[in-house]
Amino acid sequence: MATTRTAVPLLNLTRQFSAMREELLAEVAKVFETQRFILGENVAAFETEIARYLGTPHAIGVSSGTDALLVALMALGLGPGDEVIVPAFSFFATAGVVARLGATPVFADIEPESFNLAPESFASKVTSRTRAVIPVHLYGRCAAMEEILEIAARRGIAVVEDACQAIGAKRGGAFAGTLGKIGAYSFFPTKNLGAAGDAGLVTTADAALAGRLRDLRVHGMNPKYFHSEIGGNFRLDELQAAVLRVKLRRLETWNEARRAVAARYRELLAPLVASGKVGLPAEAAGHRHVYHQFVVRVRARDEVRRRMAEAGIGTEVYYPVPLHLQKCFAPLGGRPGDCPEAERAAQEVLALPVWPELLPEEIEAVAAALAAAAA
Ligand SMILES: *Cc1c(COP(=O)(O)O)cnc(C)c1O
Repeated sequence: MATTRTAVPLLNLTRQFSAMREELLAEVAKVFETQRFILGENVAAFETEIARYLGTPHAIGVSSGTDALLVALMALGLGPGDEVIVPAFSFFATAGVVARLGATPVFADIEPESFNLAPESFASKVTSRTRAVIPVHLYGRCAAMEEILEIAARRGIAVVEDACQAIGAKRGGAFAGTLGKIGAYSFFPTKNLGAAGDAGLVTTADAALAGRLRDLRVHGMNPKYFHSEIGGNFRLDELQAAVLRVKLRRLETWNEARRAVAARYRELLAPLVASGKVGLPAEAAGHRHVYHQFVVRVRARDEVRRRMAEAGIGTEVYYPVPLHLQKCFAPLGGRPGDCPEAERAAQEVLALPVWPELLPEEIEAVAAALAAAAA
């Protein structure tokens, strides 16, 4: 046990900012000098740069990760009567966007080791009305895309990847979000690539779909003031794009630093794993986990979390209620027991600090506090 108390917040973005302050503020200042704030040269350049990074032909900047998912489903023409299969364990937006279009979210269970959509559960939920599936790469680890893509192809179902937590993650050499029909990313400030506000991205390899996504981003308008379909205001703005361009250049370094923190946790927590007190996130061959979150499983999770808070260690629960049991989805008839692994995860998961700038002694303090709290 450390004798001096080291407080470690779940996330602290000020270290990241300090390391690039001048460069970032200079780019922001340039936007003000041009006074062009919407769909200008930074958005265009960011789209080119991130498409090149991800190895995808088309990248379209949008207003948030939620809007990325929403515009993706709009581009696929989904609406009332259509079913979209989503994992029962995710951030709310994954299912919320489906319901907002009048379509029906259908909840499938997750794999216990990856926390991601279980292919067998997905397959078991397919009906004649299933139009799309949204695998989520939760915590920065890719879902079982080979199996999911195979089932989807066989049943004629579009795959929209929720890569909001997984920019930079890879599976079989391809980046998360580039494997399905459309990929959706979030640049919420706390994500691995974070803007200075809300921002998001959609990617696709389909040129026609890319054109449709671009039109829907500006009210379905093409050419100017002619609307052949109804879109929305889903634009990414210049200030956000300017910030994202500076940060994209550092993303690989940051993701590697997150992986190094995770590797250190594995060493430090090995005794807790051996004694069965803590379960660690699984890494799999051929995957690159980018640790948006480092999530352990513990029994008496809320008590462990409280004790760690007393020791000055920030943690969080992503997510305490599975989607099929959220009050707003009660009309869909979800019941406890429908998705047992999602329900168990909601009871057991605990996210530890895993940001790139963590110091060695801070990582040790987190591990020591978890050991004491889970004892
Ligand atoms: C963050 C997140 C979203 C939503 O992104 P916003 O940019 O906050 O709208 C959607 N899905 C998942 C899994 C997320 O983590």
